[in-house]
Amino acid sequence: MSSAHDLPAIGIDIGGTKVAGGVVLPDGTISATARRATPGKSVRATEDAIAAVVDELAETHGGPLVGVGVGAAGWFDRTGDTVLFSPHLAWRNQPLRHDLTQRLQRPLWVGNDADAAAWAEYRYGAAQGSDLAVMITLGTGIGGGMVIDGRLQRGAHGVAGEWGHMRVVPDGRLCACGNRGCWEQYASGNALGFTAREVATSSPAAAALLLERVGGRAERLTGEDVATAAKAGDPLALELLAEVGTWLGQGIADMAAILDPDVVVIGGGVSVLGEMVLGPARERLERALPGRGFRPGPTVVVAQLGAQAGLVGAADLVRLAVHEGTA
Ligand SMILES: [Zn+2]
Repeated sequence: MSSAHDLPAIGIDIGGTKVAGGVVLPDGTISATARRATPGKSVRATEDAIAAVVDELAETHGGPLVGVGVGAAGWFDRTGDTVLFSPHLAWRNQPLRHDLTQRLQRPLWVGNDADAAAWAEYRYGAAQGSDLAVMITLGTGIGGGMVIDGRLQRGAHGVAGEWGHMRVVPDGRLCACGNRGCWEQYASGNALGFTAREVATSSPAAAALLLERVGGRAERLTGEDVATAAKAGDPLALELLAEVGTWLGQGIADMAAILDPDVVVIGGGVSVLGEMVLGPARERLERALPGRGFRPGPTVVVAQLGAQAGLVGAADLVRLAVHEGTA
């Protein structure tokens, strides 16, 4: 008889706009995919979308599956039974695991999408073999997860790894979490857009190339505009990316003081900009690492699994949960 380790699992990644799923083999490769739009306003409709993706994948696959792993942008309790809060979805203290178990009738792992991505990078990607891996997902905000001694760490209440809400600037920019000066307000796609709008408003001449992209309307500039401009060689856009990179490096240095990781994996949409962000980040890290010159620091690398990391990790985590009898 085959054990849970040998069977494919379904991984589901729930974002703000889509439910993406895949059948994931034990070696981390994806053999089939499916997706639906996320009807974010309705709890019931979101669960319908998840069930539809699972049904489609199960039918395409045809053979035995170990279970379903679900990663979602949200804060979960320690067991993964309850979504405490999800910024883009209607979940508030939602017993998601109970609801989905009823719907799907399959073994389940449910948890944070960045945790799932961190696990995928540890198992199959840039953090393989690490004793203490930290993942930072740079998207519109900052998410993250960590794997210590081969275990995904979710914290005492399930909400560990929310690096994006470390306060880096006293009384700084307002954050959606309710505080001011959070790291993700300075080192993220949103931060890039915010700074670009600020510069384009106060110094339109310096930002002429950026403003051309949005018909002169500074308030329309987004992080993506800056990224596109930087790739085309716009010096101001490159400077704005370097600024985000510098904030990133400073935050990594502060995290190194607490966790002493051997590897920091940078994932998420902003990470595709590569050295334009990571170069300045490594430079700052080198200058800001506490005890520099007398201790090793972490290696900072780009994630390897890209946008699929969340669903690949969620699938492997349900495989592990079934093996350990916790699914
Ligand atoms: Zn915050």
